[in-house]
Amino acid sequence: MEARQVVLQSRSPQRPGDVVVEVDEAGPEAVAQAVGRARAAGRGWAAASALERSAALAAAADALAGAAAEFTELVVREVGKPVAEAGAEVARGVGILRYYAQQALDPDGETYPGPSPAGLLLARRRPRGVAGLITPWNFPVAIPLWKAAPALAFGNAVVLKPSPDATATALRLAGLLAPAVGDDLLQVVPGGPETGRALLDGADAVSFTGSVAVGRRVAVAATERGIPAQAEMGGLNASIVLPDADPERAATVVAGAAMGYAGQKCTATSRAIVVGDPGPFTEALVAAVRGLAVGDPADEATVVGPVITEQAMGWVTDAAAEAAAAGGRLLTGGDGAGRDGWFVAPTLVEGLPPDARLAQEEVFGPIAVVLAVDDADQAVQVANGVRYGLVGSVFTRDLDRALHLAARLDTGMIRVNAPTSGVDYLAPFGGEKDSSYGPREQGKAARDFYTSTRTITILPEQAG
Ligand code: NAD
Repeated sequence: MEARQVVLQSRSPQRPGDVVVEVDEAGPEAVAQAVGRARAAGRGWAAASALERSAALAAAADALAGAAAEFTELVVREVGKPVAEAGAEVARGVGILRYYAQQALDPDGETYPGPSPAGLLLARRRPRGVAGLITPWNFPVAIPLWKAAPALAFGNAVVLKPSPDATATALRLAGLLAPAVGDDLLQVVPGGPETGRALLDGADAVSFTGSVAVGRRVAVAATERGIPAQAEMGGLNASIVLPDADPERAATVVAGAAMGYAGQKCTATSRAIVVGDPGPFTEALVAAVRGLAVGDPADEATVVGPVITEQAMGWVTDAAAEAAAAGGRLLTGGDGAGRDGWFVAPTLVEGLPPDARLAQEEVFGPIAVVLAVDDADQAVQVANGVRYGLVGSVFTRDLDRALHLAARLDTGMIRVNAPTSGVDYLAPFGGEKDSSYGPREQGKAARDFYTSTRTITILPEQAG
């Protein structure tokens, strides 16, 4: 019987009639073949010198730098990311490749005191084999690269299953980088859940980024197969604003972190927790949000572009309606943005209790809630009172209070007087609670996931 062929389309969210790419889904059989080719190619790659791997990644960085304008345009078109942010993401992708090109040359293990002065006891890093990467659509260059670059640097082969909504960018990325890296070492298998599950069946390690619901399933499937897994998932990130903070400045930062790229970052601010009188901050926040340019992401001035799909528009407007029905006050937004394409107006809600759905569940769009609390203790309680724990931020001029508050937040990343959004690829990245599973990504932490250690004892043949 012939295999059923499913056609996948990725459309531009600002112009849904624009089909960016149409391809056949890979499906289980093609995934198994891709994994087989990757495993075969990976043997040579793992045996190559670190200098060769470093040079290949540096060449990949040069290739991406040379194609930066083309990639920026493609990211804008395929996922509706505002052009300034899309350009910054591509530049970050180049930085990530350069960073891991250098890390390939780091020491590849440690020595320990041996059984005798002449003997050696070593722990050396070795690659895991085929790294299966399953990625979301919102950072279509940076996320695949912050997984693929360390995987390759440490001697693994990569099979990437991108989000269907970012298929064109992933295919182009592999097409550009594969010649630098080598045949079959970086392959893309387009498709949805079925293709993702097939990759879980074949890979030697799996790195996932996406929603909590899918991440959980990925972790279970990997555990059943006994392969290492890491999953970076959703967030419901809080910014705590203390009474001594400059309300205007905090509001400007929170507005950008909540609504930039239409709130579609795992690190976006979804909750502003205001200690004391919420009036001045809230007023400044509403003004800042209303001042954000909503529009065509190809326009340099745009801060808030479209959301990714028609369904995502519904999530935002439904969440706003539900919040209003639950007693919340809409401060701004709550409806479509009056444009063609998948646009919704940046939306702010106040007056909800911390256990309201909007204050508990990720919507993944341009919507945030303002929660008023009496003191810093209550702020910590509310900030921590959700199942997520990706990133939290605190706005204050008082270093002591910032340090004490930060120490009590249950999040993997904490930022003081800085937006919750923003990722430093040279530092460990990941969350607590439902936001993350498994070891951290990025920085030097990535090596722990993409390698295992082999402990080696070497003794002289004859006692000296
Ligand atoms: P998603 O969970 O719907 O999809 C993620 C990936 O998993 C896609 O490639 C998808 O095709 C695949 N997939 C879906 N079902 C699968 C299955 N059963 N088995 C294997 N693979 C499957 O997420 P999304 O809508 O693409 O992205 C948005 C989500 O990602 C948000 O929740 C956001 O917070 C999260 N995110 C987290 C981070 C982070 O680093 N913590 C970064 C970006 C996005």
